[in-house]
Amino acid sequence: STEPVLVLVSAPTEGEPVAGPGFALADPTVPHLDVNDLGAVRGDGVFETIGVIDGHPQALDAHLLRFARSAAQLELPAPRLDVWREAVLAAVEAARSAGTLAAEAGAKTVLTRGVEGTGVATGWVRLSAAPDMSTARRDGVRVITLDRGFPADVAQRAPWLLQGAKTLSYAINMAALRHARSRDADDVIFVSSDGAVLEGPTANVLVRIGDEVITPPTDQAILAGTTQARAFDFFAGRGLRTSERRLGVAELADADGLWLTSSVRLVVPVTTLDGVACAVDADLTEGLLRHLRTVTD
Ligand code: PLP
Repeated sequence: STEPVLVLVSAPTEGEPVAGPGFALADPTVPHLDVNDLGAVRGDGVFETIGVIDGHPQALDAHLLRFARSAAQLELPAPRLDVWREAVLAAVEAARSAGTLAAEAGAKTVLTRGVEGTGVATGWVRLSAAPDMSTARRDGVRVITLDRGFPADVAQRAPWLLQGAKTLSYAINMAALRHARSRDADDVIFVSSDGAVLEGPTANVLVRIGDEVITPPTDQAILAGTTQARAFDFFAGRGLRTSERRLGVAELADADGLWLTSSVRLVVPVTTLDGVACAVDADLTEGLLRHLRTVTD
C-alpha cells in the first residue's frame, strides 16, 4: 500500500513570498511541527481530504475551492491555490515514481494559523494509503442518529461556531464515532435540535425517496460535499430528480435508499438506522460507486 509522502508548503498563503515552487518534499518519518503551532494547540486551521484513485486526485479543484472557503470563514490568509494544487500533484508523483502508490490513497492538505505570535501560516500535504473500504461499500454500515445540539440555522445565527467550514477541530466528530461504536453501530447521522437531518461526522447524507434524491441544504450548518455533488451528477444522469431540502428523521426511515458519501470512502449504503433495517438499492449503489471511481472531476 501507499507509503506516506510529505510535502511541506513554504508559501501556503498569499501573505508569504514564493521562492521556487513554494513547497518541497520532506521526510515523513521525522517531526516537523512546532509545538506552539496553533493548529496543534487550538485546532485553529482548516483541511481537505482528497481521494486519489489510480493516481488521480478526484475533484481537486472543488476541494481547493472549499479549502479557500473554509480559510475565509476562519479569517485565515487566502491559500495560494496554484501552489497547493502543484503540491498535491507532487506528492502523488513522488509516490508513483517510488512505485508505492496504491490504487486508492488519500491526500490531506492542512493550513493552520501558524506558530503563535508569528502571523505566518503553516501548510503541508500528506499522502497516505486509504483504509480498506471494500466491506463497508459492499455490506453497508449501521448508523445511529445523534443530537448535534444546535438548530439547523446555526450558521446564520452564530457564524463564530464555524459550521460549514472544514476546520481542524474534529474532536467532537471523532467522539460521536466512538459513541456509535459503543452502541454497536458503525457511523452517525447528526440531527439538529429542531429535528433536521444534517450530515455524518465525516460524510454527507443522501436519501432516495421514489424518483427523487435529496441531501440537506448546505446552508444548514453542514459541509458542501464534493462527493455529494459528484453523486448528484450520477443520479441526474440516471433520470432521477436531485434536490437540496430540509429532511426530517422520519423521512430517512421510510426512504428507498440511504447513503453516506465522502472523498475516500466514496459511498456506503446505510443498512440499519437506529437499529431498524433500511431499504438497500444494491444496483444504484454499485452504479454510483463505479461513477465515483471512474469520473475524475
Ligand atoms: N461532512 C463532513 C463533516 C466531512 O468531514 C466530510 C468529509 O470528510 C464530508 C461531509 C464529505 O465531504 P467530501 O465528499 O467533500 O469528502
